[in-house]
Amino acid sequence: MTEMPTTWVAGAAGSLFDLDNLPYGVFSLTDDSPRVGVRIGDHVLDLAPVAEIAVTDGQSPASVLAAAWRTPSLNAFMAMGPEQWAIAREWITEVLGHDVHEARTAPHVHPLADVTLHLPIEVGDYVDFYASEHHASNVGRIFRPDQEPLLPNWKHLPVGYHGRAGTVVPSGTDIVRPCGQRKAPTEDAPTYGPSRRLDIEAELGFVIGTPSRLGERVSTADFAAHTFGVVGLNDWSARDVQAWEYVPLGPFLGKSFATSISHWVTPLAALDAAWTELPGQDPEPLDYLRVDGPAGLDIAVEVVLDGEVVSRPPYSSMYWSPAQMLAHTTVNGATVRTGDLWGSGTVSGPDVDQRGSLLELSWGGKEPFTVAGRERTFLEDGDVVTLRYTAPGTAGGRIALGEVTGRVVPAR
Ligand code: MN
Repeated sequence: MTEMPTTWVAGAAGSLFDLDNLPYGVFSLTDDSPRVGVRIGDHVLDLAPVAEIAVTDGQSPASVLAAAWRTPSLNAFMAMGPEQWAIAREWITEVLGHDVHEARTAPHVHPLADVTLHLPIEVGDYVDFYASEHHASNVGRIFRPDQEPLLPNWKHLPVGYHGRAGTVVPSGTDIVRPCGQRKAPTEDAPTYGPSRRLDIEAELGFVIGTPSRLGERVSTADFAAHTFGVVGLNDWSARDVQAWEYVPLGPFLGKSFATSISHWVTPLAALDAAWTELPGQDPEPLDYLRVDGPAGLDIAVEVVLDGEVVSRPPYSSMYWSPAQMLAHTTVNGATVRTGDLWGSGTVSGPDVDQRGSLLELSWGGKEPFTVAGRERTFLEDGDVVTLRYTAPGTAGGRIALGEVTGRVVPAR
């Protein structure tokens, strides 16, 4: 456990957003410009003006950070790298953790109720993986019932596809039911219309801070040197569109209409106590995918549909680790850039109530499940889905990651 001061911000001490958390986001007040803030309790600290006060007082670390925090995304700050991230975290902990800073800092601490939150990052490339053995096996059984559930490559490499960065939207954005080609196995030809099998995928998203160079690999050991932090991520999926289009080149329009991420990016440092052993990899992966020590993350996920928790997927059950996904992404010499985002793939545990998609919870629509007394399969117009995440914090309690929510609105 880390020795932690007690914050002077009302209601924050002992909450899920105490000094051991401090996620970053982008906010604005009425009629002003979006800029970077850090969450403490149910408040956001406007970082740039407080850093500028510190500059005036001769506290040098803040000067280089103030400029980055005045911008409308986290990218400039994320590009500065792990040394500055650590300096920033230490400085914020000092400012929020000691009464001596309260008088001049408090005017820049705003209740969340008074601010508008924005997309926190300018998204570079977006990639989505498929790293849960339980999810991949379930989907294999549902989509290809006559074959082995896992394809032959699955345990040798973390399978992924390139998604659409331009449709990554912040939590709270309405999701318009997508239209497209749908063809059920029983139909002779496809028809066009609104998806009848709209779904969610409960995932984590990892955000790249420090870029890599073209032609060079990022090793699993360099994960923390490049990765800034973690967001909640819902990979909305139109299963009927996906099932018809995905062979042989993978997901396309069934996924690209929207991907929601949380307003808050939890820095990797806040997850120091959450690292845990992977469930086990057999066969042993190739050398470039080997990891030393605990490479998994003990993060508890909750899927809330219309106010009711319908699933509790454990991230600790994921087969492939985040470091392996990053190493695999760059093994051919492809770069990662500041703001790149990759999704973990749907998080599903071994149990029925740990499945991270409605496709699995309803077993392809064949086994409806009950929410608020009604039988449900796929998403209906008006449904609200919220994904919530908690993890062990470095001070011995728990921290919350940013939640991600969205409401389904009718097709246009
Ligand atoms: Mn996905």
